[in-house]
Amino acid sequence: MKYKELITQIFEKVHSTENQGEKASYIPELAKVASENFGVHISTTDSEQFGFGDFQDKFSIQSISKVFSLALAYKLLGEDLWNRLGVEPSGTGFNSLVQLENDKGIPRNPFINAGALVIADILLSHLENPKEELLAFIRSLSANKDINYSTKIAYSEKSVGYRNIALCNFIKSFGNIENEPDKVLDFYFDICSLESTCEQLSAQFSFLANNGKTAHDNTQVLTISQSKRINALMQTCGFYDESGEFAFKVGLAGKSGVGGGIVAIHPNQYVITVWSPKLNAKGNSYRGMQFLEAFTTATQQSIF
Ligand code: GLU
Repeated sequence: MKYKELITQIFEKVHSTENQGEKASYIPELAKVASENFGVHISTTDSEQFGFGDFQDKFSIQSISKVFSLALAYKLLGEDLWNRLGVEPSGTGFNSLVQLENDKGIPRNPFINAGALVIADILLSHLENPKEELLAFIRSLSANKDINYSTKIAYSEKSVGYRNIALCNFIKSFGNIENEPDKVLDFYFDICSLESTCEQLSAQFSFLANNGKTAHDNTQVLTISQSKRINALMQTCGFYDESGEFAFKVGLAGKSGVGGGIVAIHPNQYVITVWSPKLNAKGNSYRGMQFLEAFTTATQQSIF
């Protein structure tokens, strides 16, 4: 087991330092999660598995789910998807409205909220039972089927979702939302409410480390090119307005969520998932970032 000792050492070291940052209290349910939760899990393409800390505890994956919804929409629409949204980093906050006016309702990328709302709209237009079919798609990505929506978290976010409501209506005014905004928003809040564990996320994301093929049953979920492109988007846009910093310090493709999770991918090598709820000023897990920076520094391997 190549990574076991290293992960344990780095975990202990990060754990022994001050846990800085704040939880995402703007979603009331997320503020209730214990700050000291900390878990990590790695799954390699040659079948090594190792987890440490709270790696089997469920948490709210929030924007990490935007990779799943993007993957399903990309599978359904192919390259036509990019008529509805772009592939450039936004350089603004994840829930910003400012660029949409100039960009005429075309979100800069699928990982900011505006882009994820357009993806939710696309899934609503193309699937008969979008909520069930997205969940079935995610479950098909790994052998462990235990991932679910949380009604409590979806409701908690909806009750204060003014910014997303504004975003969705604004995009609709430019004609880039086809369905009723209420339906799109409900589906978007459901997608953000998905709960999973570090261990499960590492398995669910294995297709992106494996040229589009699932690790458990070798299903080609996306083409090699689509898989490469999603990794590229995770690299350039996966960390809100801190994607450059993540590339600079960690050097992996990845996606974070305000629940404190980070999934990072080294194509053809591994998926590593870290969870710790306190977030830095840019909205990324404080300990998650610390851990991953130390990890790629110690292994001296990154995608660069
Ligand atoms: N549900 C969150 C929101 O729309 C997602 C934020 C995130 O994890 O980036 O505010």
